[in-house]
Amino acid sequence: ELGDYPVIRKQVDQLAVVPYLVDYERETSSFTLDEARSWLDGLPGKRGLNIAYEAVDRHLAHGRGDHVAIRFVRLSGEVEEVSYAALRTRTSQFAHVLRDLGVQPGERVFSLCGRVPDLYTALLGTVRARSTFAPLFSAFGPEPVRQRIVRGDGVALVTTPALYQRKVAPVRDQMPGLRHVLLVDTTAAEAAESGIPGAVSLSEAMHAASDVFDIEPTDPEEMALLHFTSGTTGTPKGAVHVHDAVVWHHASARYALDLHPEDVYWCTADPGWVTGTSYGVVAPLTHGVTMVVDEGEFHSRRWYATLAEQGVTVWYTAPTAIRMLMKAGTELPASYDLSALRFVGSVGEPLNPEAVVWGAEALGLPIHDNWWQTETGGIMIANYLSADVRPGSMGRPLPGVHAVVLRRGEDGRAEVAEDGSVVPAEDDQVGELALRPGWPSMFRGYLHDDDRYAACFAGGYYLTGDLARRDRDGYFWFVGRADDVIKSAGHLVGPFEVESALMAHPAVAEAGVIGVPDPIMGQRILAFVALKPGFEASDATRRELLGHARRRLGPAVAPREIRISESLPKTRSGKIMRRLLRARELGLPEGDLSTLERAEEEGRHER
Ligand code: AMP
Repeated sequence: ELGDYPVIRKQVDQLAVVPYLVDYERETSSFTLDEARSWLDGLPGKRGLNIAYEAVDRHLAHGRGDHVAIRFVRLSGEVEEVSYAALRTRTSQFAHVLRDLGVQPGERVFSLCGRVPDLYTALLGTVRARSTFAPLFSAFGPEPVRQRIVRGDGVALVTTPALYQRKVAPVRDQMPGLRHVLLVDTTAAEAAESGIPGAVSLSEAMHAASDVFDIEPTDPEEMALLHFTSGTTGTPKGAVHVHDAVVWHHASARYALDLHPEDVYWCTADPGWVTGTSYGVVAPLTHGVTMVVDEGEFHSRRWYATLAEQGVTVWYTAPTAIRMLMKAGTELPASYDLSALRFVGSVGEPLNPEAVVWGAEALGLPIHDNWWQTETGGIMIANYLSADVRPGSMGRPLPGVHAVVLRRGEDGRAEVAEDGSVVPAEDDQVGELALRPGWPSMFRGYLHDDDRYAACFAGGYYLTGDLARRDRDGYFWFVGRADDVIKSAGHLVGPFEVESALMAHPAVAEAGVIGVPDPIMGQRILAFVALKPGFEASDATRRELLGHARRRLGPAVAPREIRISESLPKTRSGKIMRRLLRARELGLPEGDLSTLERAEEEGRHER
């Protein structure tokens, strides 16, 4: 019943640090949001709540300005430290730069860059100025970038000249609202000569700006962050998050990551995705930790060296990375001193039980899976440092979170009665995971998309789109998605976005995109296309289409594989039946949804 792996027992009295959450039941019954608010300061003089104040300024008010806030491990391996005091200076300058350019509170500032120091300054400087920050992933191609900046009404973009030329220049004429391009690592002379409309040298503009920017009164409900996410159909959705979210960022990091001010913390997620913002910038800084940011990409030796050399104590990473480390073997970690490490968490995709157990062997610590999504803004369900771990389970809801599994209807989503009510599923029954709204980091809407927002709610619950089951002890187990979105290497990809890019090629008549199981990436993006008459179903055409998709979408979103078919299965109304494509690809019965999901689960265990 608990899966094939024995429960990993915890002995709280043997932990290196006394955890914040010692007794799950007690904490769950006594938790109040008022108490969580009291863990933060609020703007002095009761002038509201601002993320930048909680993440940066308040540590100066508490005499910790000299503490190292961020340790940047640059590509070269060189380490650059920034204190909380320096972070206040930099983010103040950045806020002035925005104001001097005429960027207003509420207007959207986008970023498209790697994990460089200016990205962190820009994020916190933007919310300091009460504008809204919308980070993009640097591995996006021009099409995802265009869609998001246009939909989010971006007025300013922080990027590098190289990324601009590759990903923004080809679509710039389609973004008339983008007024300013703040160029990282660029002199004023280079910015002027770049020919980029609205180009500004970020470093020189900051140098010229005042380093004092007192945070103005901020309504906790003002939009602070905009994170794009994908659905089954339509364009990407911009999930709106407000300053009040910081209350949950802080509280959830306390419970699920056990962050203490003395910790050296490393979140491997890129701020282009929600984890890299909520837990790669905001939450750790509100706890006053020293956080490590590695500019480099995954490499097993580089990662173990970072853990060891930086003395990381709390590490938050993802299943794809863990599977890659597993592939590199157990001998490798044994050659590094990982003795500082006291907690490892994972998020973003199903964490196979083997990986949890591997952690215990190779790192000396089990890996703690937790669950949340862009819309929830913060962790909702987790395995805790002090609690027993059931390998393969996502754990139990955080104190203050009310999660249920709802009985599902024929379409696989929660069954909603005519009167709008929903029915909880029995223990151990698969249904749609749903949450009772009310926590502070809950999204406040999809920008310009009220209908899609409204469709997320039924019977007083927010419907997550995930299928799960709850065992009788209250542990939640992930089963699969209730819709067609794909999680590949931890990145959520909307099939429609990929299909649209393929359809833009003159050879393509129809396209259907699905995710298929992959031993490392969780899911791999696979596209089926039917060609227009006159185009040959050859290897050359396939390669041409792969290249076309990669140029338009970028490596994070492009399909890894393309199959050319005579025609694709469609409904009577002409909609491509992705589920059927998937069933055929995986050799499953074509009509039976429940079998399909079960097979997916088995596929996961095999990995
Ligand atoms: P995103 O909005 O990009 O963070 O993706 C959220 C989705 O990732 C969730 O709805 C799940 O489908 C998946 N996900 C996140 N965490 C987990 C987890 N611990 N186990 C399984 N799936 C997860």
